[in-house]
Amino acid sequence: MNDISIDGYFHKSEISYCLPLVEERIANQKVDKTFWHREEIEECVLHDFDHQKLEKTLSSLIPYKFQPYTLYRVVTNRDKNYMMTVFYSDITSAIHAKVQLPDLNESVAEMKADVKGFKFDSHIEEGKTIIILKSINSARNTVLNNVVETFQKHNIFPLYMEIWYMKSRDKVVKSLYFVKTVFDSKIDRAEIDSLKDDFERYLHRYIKPMSVFDIVGPSMVGPSSSHTAGANKIGQIARNIIIARAKFDNDPAKLVTVKLLASFRDTGPGHYTPSAIGGGLWGLEPDHPQMLQHGDPAFVNEHGIDFGEFKAAFGGYKRGSVEEEQKYVNENNNNIAEIIVETTQTSYTITGFSIGGGNVEVRYMDKRLSSPINGKENFYYYNQEIISQNEAKRHAEAVLIPPIVEAEGVGKKNYRMPFNTFEELSAYIRAEKQELIDVIIEVEKNLQGSSPDDILSKAAEYWRIMKASAKKGVRSSELSLLKLTGKDASRINRYVHKNPLFNNVYGRAAAYAVAVNEVNAKCGVIVACPTAGSCGILPGVLQAYSEISKPDRKKINEAILVSGFMGMILFNDVTTAGADYGCQAEVGVGAAMAAAALTYLENGSSTEIIQSFILAVKNSLGLICDPVAGLVEVPCVKRNGIFTSVAITASMMALSGVRSFISPDEVVLTMREVGDKLNRDYKETAGGGLAKTRDGKAVDRAFASEVRRFFGEE
Ligand code: SF4
Repeated sequence: MNDISIDGYFHKSEISYCLPLVEERIANQKVDKTFWHREEIEECVLHDFDHQKLEKTLSSLIPYKFQPYTLYRVVTNRDKNYMMTVFYSDITSAIHAKVQLPDLNESVAEMKADVKGFKFDSHIEEGKTIIILKSINSARNTVLNNVVETFQKHNIFPLYMEIWYMKSRDKVVKSLYFVKTVFDSKIDRAEIDSLKDDFERYLHRYIKPMSVFDIVGPSMVGPSSSHTAGANKIGQIARNIIIARAKFDNDPAKLVTVKLLASFRDTGPGHYTPSAIGGGLWGLEPDHPQMLQHGDPAFVNEHGIDFGEFKAAFGGYKRGSVEEEQKYVNENNNNIAEIIVETTQTSYTITGFSIGGGNVEVRYMDKRLSSPINGKENFYYYNQEIISQNEAKRHAEAVLIPPIVEAEGVGKKNYRMPFNTFEELSAYIRAEKQELIDVIIEVEKNLQGSSPDDILSKAAEYWRIMKASAKKGVRSSELSLLKLTGKDASRINRYVHKNPLFNNVYGRAAAYAVAVNEVNAKCGVIVACPTAGSCGILPGVLQAYSEISKPDRKKINEAILVSGFMGMILFNDVTTAGADYGCQAEVGVGAAMAAAALTYLENGSSTEIIQSFILAVKNSLGLICDPVAGLVEVPCVKRNGIFTSVAITASMMALSGVRSFISPDEVVLTMREVGDKLNRDYKETAGGGLAKTRDGKAVDRAFASEVRRFFGEE
């Protein structure tokens, strides 16, 4: 890179066009300046030594869609009080700058093998500290804002910075940020280590935003969104692949075997995971009344699996070993199923991951797929590969692998949410002067193509199911299969109504939350929010509030959208599966969503809504997932009741003006860090915590024969 800079700071064109501006500014008015389109320079922005302005500048300089390379160069001078950003869109075609790119292609190859998708290096060169960051598949704002903010928070200021962005054709590395930062002195080791920690935490791969209804929803038969509804979806996607492959290869499946790994193996039978995968392989949806019965081991062993044009024998549900799951150790998801397919000519394995709230990704067909299949888009099978709709245009013989959920509509092509963190959301609302609810509806419309009326009526439909499950639960005294739960909701409800001290939003919310979870434990119909294990908190709080405050229906529906949207922003960083991040990500997030909904109902501002959400997240950190015998009953049911209080209190505090000292996005990243460090015993494996108490193990023993039946070990 040396031949493009003079004195290590300026490009040739910067010297001829930008430096005179710097001098003029220093000599004269000190006003902010911008100028555009001078030879290879796209834009040059000059302003005070002010990091907020720098962040704003970087966010406003958007690369052309079709250019492969972009360069942001930032020169800063604290003594002379200026920062100058020069922006080059398509630097490769610049004639004058004679720019030599850093070896970005080599970096792509290097990062491809890197699990985290992030690298940090530092060294000293002639007394100057050079820091190089590489990050792949990250959102632009995440990189640009965090680079600036991290240096600012450390109170260290670079002499200059080069931020290269490269769009890549590689299937794994879709984009690369290469950030070189030069400091005029040595930075001590402890500071470098702390910087590395921060960057590692903040720069991460971009997760495609989903829909509000991926967080509130689906409506499903319990007991678990990840282990039942998600498992079913993996089965359904595998079915569509098996059918497409049979057609293309003219070689139908003869034998299908299901292998469960990690949390699916350890606690799956308690959630009917095997049956749900089997039901999905039969093509039945999560709320189909025959779904679990069609996947039951006795049924599939006898009938095999009917794929329409052909039928395959069933090879059984198998336990994968801990050693076998090591190959997926970097996937960050702990609910894993392999569907092993044998045909006359070959065999292949489809691997799916359930990532929380009923959302799934099939990521492997023998080798890793270039794009995971989440069941919402068309994919195609062609010659032992799964290819995208675009690629399929070049191969007329490719066979469609259809989605498993009907799209609401067609989202805007290439639409990207204009924010992916809470701070960016707040900034967007301020800049656009829009109400949060309008932003939510606009984003949902752009992502899913649904009309505002459809969005609100879907929320209304979910509210109807939530209310029905709350009411049903407080009336019922029927016990669950192993008699661990079933009567508490009616007990609390009766007590609350007799005792004026508790007959308020707190008492009633607890009764209704327990009620909904009891319905879930008895395989009744509920709405996951965000998961089935945490399905009681939002309906509990909403039902209690609606009885006491009688809001209009539209406002309740909007509150449901607000709660889902807050969860959706969090989902950019943390999945809502107890198996991945512990119960903080299920009950903790459920409480946070309910807090946000309540704050919205009480006419809180967008800041208060975000704050209530984050106060609940923050005070659920570290909550472990340790269901007894893997059943979503103990501690899940009562925990939902208890955490309604966290939701209501977080809302009340935010509305009264209390603010989290730690910024909302940092709280979310802390949840991720805590979840990453949680021992696997506390991630829905029933390997520790309450599941391993004497009482817990007694339930394990009572359930053991049922577990053996699933795995054909009797
Ligand atoms: S302990 Fe929490 S995370 Fe685990 S299954 Fe129960 S509700 Fe879900």
